[in-house]
Formats: sequence, structure tokens, C-alpha cells
Amino acid sequence: MKILLVEDDALLGDGVYTGLNRENNFVDWVKNGESALSAIAETRYDCVILDIGLPKMSGLEVLQQLRKANNNVPVLILTAQDDISDRVKGLDAGADDYLVKPFEFAELCARLRALTRRTRGNASETIKYKNIIINTAAHTVEYNEAPVELSRREYTLLVEMITNQGRVLSRHTLEQKLYSWGDEIESNTIEVYIHHLRKKLYSELIKTVRGIGYIISKH
Ligand code: CA
Repeated sequence: MKILLVEDDALLGDGVYTGLNRENNFVDWVKNGESALSAIAETRYDCVILDIGLPKMSGLEVLQQLRKANNNVPVLILTAQDDISDRVKGLDAGADDYLVKPFEFAELCARLRALTRRTRGNASETIKYKNIIINTAAHTVEYNEAPVELSRREYTLLVEMITNQGRVLSRHTLEQKLYSWGDEIESNTIEVYIHHLRKKLYSELIKTVRGIGYIISKH
């Protein structure tokens, strides 16, 4: 998953950032509302983790601006303990879920997965495509009932393409999903990952649309 983390607390932010990266995600981390809005304008995130208590522009204002601009990116807000009004205001402003600090990292992960399942319109942690089965909780992939070892980027690319089946995804869109800020992107990197997926799964799985991008046909 490509996630935007908006958190000004260095210690908490660092813990969440490191943990999410370890869990097969690609995370961009910003520390204030203005940077959050410009990041969201540039990148299609799978979800946003938004702290309400931010310096200057509050998380609530960020959320209100997003929804006013008809941006429907799934947002999970982080609120301070005991501040029920923040939670209510956040949900009213269009947050999809909330967590109260301090929280268990495992719960954050489970809620993020639930959020993206709802966005996909899929109630289960399993994504099936023909003979491919992806378990999004365990990050495992099976093909013809045999486990397939995928790298973090191969896995993310596969999930992204299958959940967008029937749609052509440009190289730029895919690059945004596979990299965080500061990662160096080599020029033919997406081609390389596509090549690996075709080899590890099957070659007709992903079709190249010349000059535009890649597509997995609708199942
Ligand atoms: Ca804060």
C-alpha cells in the first residue's frame, strides 16, 4: 500500500513510519497540514493517516479541505485520548476511521487493511484472480496452489494491477505506488518488476499497452 503519514510527533511518527515500511508498505511522511495537502495533490495514496493535533493547520482542516475538493482518499485520523469531540468532528468531516493515541501498531495495520478492503468493495483479506490468491494480511501469494516468493515491490505491483484490473496503469502511476520519497528510481524499473511477475506467475498475466502502460485484463 502507498500511505501518507501526517504526524508532527517525531517519536510516534518514526515508529509508525518504520513499522509500516517493514509491513510491505511505501510510506511518505509529512509533519504539517500544508505539506499533507500538497502531497495528496500529487500522489494517489491508498490511504492517509492523519493526526488531528498538528501545528498551524489542524488535521481537521486538512480533512475538510480534502472532502470539499471531492477527494475521497480513505483517511484514518489519530486523536488524543479523552478528546471525544475531535473524534466526532473528524468522522463528521469525512474521516473513514479513527484511532485513539496511544494505540497498538497491530491495530493500526488491521484498520488500514479494513479501510482499503472497503475501498476495494471487498470484505475479505483475500484477493483472488484466476489461479492467483493473495492474502493481504499475511502478504503471501499463491499460484496454482503453490506459494510464490515476491519482493515487496513485486507484491505491491501485483496487488495494484489486480485491484485495478481492466484499467491501463501508466508507468508513472505505478512508480508512485512502489516508491517513497527519497527512493532512487531507475529508469527501467517498472519493466523489470513486470518481467519478474510474468516469470514468477505467467507471461500473459500482464499486457503491455505500448506507449501508455500495463494492464491486467478483467477476470
Ligand atoms: Ca500531534
